[in-house]
Amino acid sequence: MNGQVILGMGQSGLSVARFLRGQGAGFHCYDDRPVERWSTDAQAFAGCSVRSLPQGTVQLIVSPGFPAEHTVIQQALSQGIEVVSEIEFAFRHAKGTIIGVTGSNGKSTTVSMIHHVLVNSGLPAILCGNIGQSFTSSLVAEEAIYVVEISSFQLEWIVTFRAHIGVLINVTADHLDRHHSMAGYEAAKLRLFENQLESDLAIVDAPFATRIPGDGEIEVVPSGHLVIHDDYIDLGKLGRLSLANFSLLGAHNRMNLLFTALAVSRLGITVNQIEEALSSFSGLQNRLETIGTCDGRLWINDSKATNPASTQVAIEAMTSPYVLILGGSDKDTNFGQLNLNANPPKAIVAYGETGPKAQSQLSNWPIEVVCDFDSACRHAHDLAGTGEAVLLAPACASFDQFDNYMARGEAFRSLFANCVGVS
Ligand code: ADP
Repeated sequence: MNGQVILGMGQSGLSVARFLRGQGAGFHCYDDRPVERWSTDAQAFAGCSVRSLPQGTVQLIVSPGFPAEHTVIQQALSQGIEVVSEIEFAFRHAKGTIIGVTGSNGKSTTVSMIHHVLVNSGLPAILCGNIGQSFTSSLVAEEAIYVVEISSFQLEWIVTFRAHIGVLINVTADHLDRHHSMAGYEAAKLRLFENQLESDLAIVDAPFATRIPGDGEIEVVPSGHLVIHDDYIDLGKLGRLSLANFSLLGAHNRMNLLFTALAVSRLGITVNQIEEALSSFSGLQNRLETIGTCDGRLWINDSKATNPASTQVAIEAMTSPYVLILGGSDKDTNFGQLNLNANPPKAIVAYGETGPKAQSQLSNWPIEVVCDFDSACRHAHDLAGTGEAVLLAPACASFDQFDNYMARGEAFRSLFANCVGVS
């Protein structure tokens, strides 16, 4: 197809540009930044750059960073030009089975677990989407099982995208700066199911059971026949899944495992195969990751806890007294949503842009504010006693001091590595 315009020349747009060039198609690229500020890889497409929608544009492929209010999107809509996201674009070229996973928290953990079990069981699974490679750059000629992590931003602009197996883990407050309201955010998430056919499966968080669009079969999690116990998960007619080899901390990870088990079972994987695969799955970095013990204090890195709901599950997973590090950049974060009574911290150290806000919203708790991340970690270490934990689960994005949550996690790791100088 000619007449396509790619909006945004970051990773997502770049993968579409490469794909289209590989197909010999004509296309244009638009980015708010001048070409000189594109990445070196993206500059290979500088010759396709435009400053407005050219005559004859038939499709606008939107990168997830662009809000619906963007002038180019609005212009395309007003001219009746089709607007699609990168996953919609990739879907139209994909052959095989698609497992789409969305939710506010737990997507990366769950897609990684699903992918791990499938590959360990000898199936041709490809992990893509929000995690690592884009769906478009992961496309292969032959049939495959695409395990796609999908954000609400990608779902905003789907048209025909259909997940043969769709998973909605949870929806809690996040990204409200972009979606403006919970209703808008939930509506975007629920679109994952709108094109499902009767032969498809929707595995959904219980509160959304009656709101799932499309014609897929609905499996509600948890429900009467799907129950999580301390040492096994009852999967109803599928059997009992032992947790003996499952090393991830916290009730939320057992929930992620339940979603995983239902998704892979649909593809014929047995309970024995899942149990076998679990023994070699140790979780992801920056998600309730145990770093080690320094001066008798256990350091736990949950830098990916960028909203109160993910901080909440981290708190509830703690089995020793702990000092909690909160703070970072603001996306309308409400620390008041934290239920600290569920497992009260010994102390809280708040830092960064949201530090003062955390202090005022959690004024009933022993909370101290420091200006930067390093000081927060050092102080938390000092406040924790021997046999206690330092938990980084900040409830905020990292952009006030870091490029991303990974850089924040790395900073935490290197402070730990220099731990002798910490206290
Ligand atoms: P996502 O890709 O949706 O951001 P991740 O797996 O990267 O999800 O986890 C993000 C954060 O959410 C981490 O802090 C992790 O510990 C926490 N988390 C993981 N699974 C869940 C869940 N089911 N419910 C709530 N929080 C979760």
